[in-house]
Amino acid sequence: MKQWIYLDGEFVTKENAKVSVYDHGFLYGDGIFEGIRIYGGNIFKCKEHLERLYDSAKSIMLNIPLPIEEMQDVLLETIRKNELQDGYIRLIVSRGPGNLGLDPLRCPKASVIIIVEQLAIYSEEAYRNGLRTVSVAERRNIPDALNPKIKSLNYLNNILVKIKANLADVGEAIMLNAQGYVTEGSGDNIFLVKKGVVYTPPCYLGALEGITRGAIMELCQKLGLTLKEEPFSLHDIYVADEVFFTGTAAEVIAVREVDGRIIGSGQAGPVTLSLLENFRKIVTEDGVKVYD
Ligand code: PMP
Repeated sequence: MKQWIYLDGEFVTKENAKVSVYDHGFLYGDGIFEGIRIYGGNIFKCKEHLERLYDSAKSIMLNIPLPIEEMQDVLLETIRKNELQDGYIRLIVSRGPGNLGLDPLRCPKASVIIIVEQLAIYSEEAYRNGLRTVSVAERRNIPDALNPKIKSLNYLNNILVKIKANLADVGEAIMLNAQGYVTEGSGDNIFLVKKGVVYTPPCYLGALEGITRGAIMELCQKLGLTLKEEPFSLHDIYVADEVFFTGTAAEVIAVREVDGRIIGSGQAGPVTLSLLENFRKIVTEDGVKVYD
């Protein structure tokens, strides 16, 4: 079956989905995006993802050429056109084509692209055993330079971290902020569990306000787990009972090793596994149904 991509009001095949070399998303990373999951025909946390997209747009003064309700309709249409039940949605809004100068005023119209695809996910073994990870020297972008709450197309900070993870032959890496507090992974939020309490860093330290992070915080409350949004350091990670990452692609995945220190039992711990199990129960419910 053909893969259809939504490109500025039209559906084109993957082969024909081309953007201008003058697009400021390409030239400067000037744009924003969302990564969204669809589970059994349900767009998980659709509203939250769209709201984050429009908030990012507002923050960088990017005028999305369709209102949020229409964006949701287009999203649904793209999924239906691709007959997708389970997979990943990449929604991109770039500043659009301009000239070679930086000035966004030279970009008359933002470009909207929606790609829906099957998703290659971690193996069930990885969810049970956990990931090895390292901390890296590269600090998270400071919020008063480029706020990590903006899900911008400028992912070079994250890519540099991914390169370090690759060099260390691990699946994900941990970024600190300029003060040495833990912020997040290259593409995931981070949590730790100590003596039954779940901790995650506040996003003002320099992290994306992950939708999965939000869902896990809600689940903690539902399951009666104490959750604290508090700054913590690498030391706290090393001595934690459990550490896990959350993200649209990764869901809830345990960390078994950080910088050579074995975390807890060296496998996914009971809190992590319980959160994963409960998370997987809500992903087909909490969102917008595509085929009703
Ligand atoms: N942090 C970063 C830097 C990310 O790219 C992502 C993935 N979008 C996350 C955290 C997790 O966010 P979400 O749960 O919304 O996918």
